[in-house]
Amino acid sequence: MSIANEQDQLWRQLQAERESRSALRLALDFGGEYLDATPKRRVFPDQAALAALDAFDEPLPEHPTPADVVIQGLHRLGSPATTAQGGGRYFGFVNGGLLPAALGARLLADVWDQNAALQVMSPIAAKLEAVCERWLVDLLQLPEGSAAGLVSGTSAATLCGLLAGRNTLLRRLGWDVNAQGLFGAPKLRAVLSEGAHVTVRKALAILGIGAAQIETVPADEQGRFDLSRLPPLDESTLLVLQAGNVNSGAFDTFTPLCTAARKAGAWVHIDGAFGLWARACQETAHLTAGVELADSWSADAHKTLNSPYDCGIILCRNRAALVGALQASDSYLHFGEGRDGMLYTLDMSRRARGVELWAGLKSLGRTGIDQLVAQLCRRARQFADELRAHDFRVLNDVVFNQVLVACDSPALTKRTLELLQAGGECWCGGSEWRGEPVIRISVCSWTTTPDDVRRSAAAFVDARDQALVSV
Ligand SMILES: *Cc1c(COP(=O)(O)O)cnc(C)c1O
Repeated sequence: MSIANEQDQLWRQLQAERESRSALRLALDFGGEYLDATPKRRVFPDQAALAALDAFDEPLPEHPTPADVVIQGLHRLGSPATTAQGGGRYFGFVNGGLLPAALGARLLADVWDQNAALQVMSPIAAKLEAVCERWLVDLLQLPEGSAAGLVSGTSAATLCGLLAGRNTLLRRLGWDVNAQGLFGAPKLRAVLSEGAHVTVRKALAILGIGAAQIETVPADEQGRFDLSRLPPLDESTLLVLQAGNVNSGAFDTFTPLCTAARKAGAWVHIDGAFGLWARACQETAHLTAGVELADSWSADAHKTLNSPYDCGIILCRNRAALVGALQASDSYLHFGEGRDGMLYTLDMSRRARGVELWAGLKSLGRTGIDQLVAQLCRRARQFADELRAHDFRVLNDVVFNQVLVACDSPALTKRTLELLQAGGECWCGGSEWRGEPVIRISVCSWTTTPDDVRRSAAAFVDARDQALVSV
């Protein structure tokens, strides 16, 4: 066959696949089956499902494969090798569930395949981003006019917030990073608690602030910034605080810390990956008192808000500081009257994650978000109560959605966790807390019911009973 004929054939195949919608239909059918099966299946894939992944280790295909065949293969081998995150008994890391409206919006937006860089590339993406910004500032009660950028996650959001902070502090010290670069710039320092998330140090390193310029303040017994150890702050300081410690869920005491920082001319960034949402819930809003005094905030919609992956948010009090730090211009870019999403993020071409963020916020509304957050906290407290009743030790104050659990000895905790993970009834991760191995529970999905918590607590007891035999 000539090359022209072969191409013709491929184009006919692609056209037929597009018109028949069969790959799309298959994906939706398989997706529906997957959602139905999720609550009933093992939470972590079994050995057979993991071993079957070897089938993907084939050489790059020489020739086209029909779309249906691609999707069928993906479902057959891929679906069983997922973790059942949306099923109600996944408590690993801090991963969120999936709201139905957000999922639907995501699927539709995937069909639209918009580039959300510029308003002129996608008016709908620009509009929904602008609406999300307004809604988020309202919902999270941040200073009026604060800007929001939609990024991949809190790692990127923290990088953007600290970038805006670094450049602002340097400008105040008479140094324009965009014009003069960093070499020879006045020195900055960062102050953070030892409980800060690893992504904060990563962002600082990328921004040219290494370990030698970071002052780490000891945390208190809950993992909060120890106010009594706050070093003197000044106009060359980036202060990083935390709404929701990744282990304990604890919140820093923002009002005195932010007040001291403002007085000193420091920049305050708050990592609120999952905890900033506490502010949108009456029962937990008190934990975030004073966050409105900071300069920038990061949050993940894909965690507590149960948006699809990936959706991080950078919020910044001073719009010009954020846009100025992420500046980009060239004669071929046409900036619009409305919102050009790329001005608020590291990326230029980007998917329209505002679509599903909007859909999630719209479908829940203020009261729905309040209930979602309150329910996650309630389930976490239930988990803690049930485990305490079975003589597990709960090591943190369960103020939000995180529970840290240990058995009578470190060896027993570790073995119990291994057996719990292997059992498949639920899934929790491990961590270390104040020098001791712990089992870490994070209640993050709207799907988790009281019965899911009861079943999972029973799995803890079974795992420990088995572990007692071998430890
Ligand atoms: C998850 C998390 C991060 C990192 O966020 P990504 O979305 O994974 O980039 C940072 N800080 C805290 C407290 C987190 O829980």
